[in-house]
Amino acid sequence: MGAPSNSGDGGKNALLRALPSVEQLLRRPSLEPLLSGVPRARAVAALRLAVDRARGRLVASGGPGFEDADVQHALDTLAAPGLRPVLNATGVVLHTNLGRAPLAASAVARVAEVARGYSNLEYDLDEGARGSRYAPLVGLLRSLTGAEDAVVVNNCAGAVLLVLAALASGRECVVSRGELVEIGGGFRVPEVMRQSGAKLVEVGTTNRTRLADYSAALGAESALLVKVHRSNFALVGFTEEVEVAELSALGRARGVPVFQDLGAGALVPLKGEGLSRELTVAQAVAAGADVVAFSGDKLLGGPQAGVVVGRSALLARIKAHPLMRALRVDKLTVAALEATLALYRDGRAEEVPVHRLLAQAPEDLRARAVRLEGLLAGRGVRA
Ligand SMILES: *Cc1c(COP(=O)(O)O)cnc(C)c1O
Repeated sequence: MGAPSNSGDGGKNALLRALPSVEQLLRRPSLEPLLSGVPRARAVAALRLAVDRARGRLVASGGPGFEDADVQHALDTLAAPGLRPVLNATGVVLHTNLGRAPLAASAVARVAEVARGYSNLEYDLDEGARGSRYAPLVGLLRSLTGAEDAVVVNNCAGAVLLVLAALASGRECVVSRGELVEIGGGFRVPEVMRQSGAKLVEVGTTNRTRLADYSAALGAESALLVKVHRSNFALVGFTEEVEVAELSALGRARGVPVFQDLGAGALVPLKGEGLSRELTVAQAVAAGADVVAFSGDKLLGGPQAGVVVGRSALLARIKAHPLMRALRVDKLTVAALEATLALYRDGRAEEVPVHRLLAQAPEDLRARAVRLEGLLAGRGVRA
């Protein structure tokens, strides 16, 4: 826009022009002690970062210009990985910003083992032929949930998109108005449905939905009855909702499968404040849900993943959908999920860190908080 330059801008421009080059800095005697012993490539990377930092400061607030201290800062930045461990003192056990579920020791070990070398990811060692990457997970998921078949994708949002696209594209999905939720990170049920190509048919009201509402909405175009876990809010007061058992009976009578997005997806009943009412995946399957989707890194306590379990015929259609390839999990996820599921199979669910963390007594938490405060104060940090 060619803003007229005033003396302030002129000063800033002069400082910007005066920023040293990396070559000049490599020869600057005052930086020698800082850079001695630093490999040249790393020194160059640090100096670029340092000059960028000074430039950013000049542009944002007019200065100060480059200082040798910028180089120390840049070296420190390079030394620390961008993604690194932090303490979670938020009181939220499954915190998406802090990486959700910490993995069990056995899962961490299996990831390391598989990451280090080659694996039979898509090779059936018994048959000596190509195999499926989901094979180690299917047996475990079937026995833990009672479902006929299973598959795993990148996350539960992907699982929901995949299920809707595979089973309902171009046709209708019937959902209660009380369950058209936004989960966070922009995952909104109506929008995911639009993306999948399915047509949303809303029934009931925000606070009350009855079986008759679902029943009246079913027709020749109905592909799925959908039930979504509210996950991050509660409906209280004058409310009514249809449980999955009732919805499944309706679905069977009318030939329309029921898809339940369970979200958190507990595999075992949970102990702890307000958690015992969470429907487990096995309970949803036993109640008649034909397809159930849930997260790998919420109450299951494993790696980020989206698990889909359900009837064989429906899972076959899901597995054949092109999105399956786009959403597939990598070997590290398969390794971590298999090891986590094995803990449940072996009756060792208490080794899944999420369960231990959720079961902590308030007085134990208080003691840890006080100890942490002391440690931080010892380092000159005030809580
Ligand atoms: C958390 C959640 C999702 C999204 O799961 P991600 O694994 O985070 O993708 C979808 N549906 C429900 C009901 C959820 O609670």
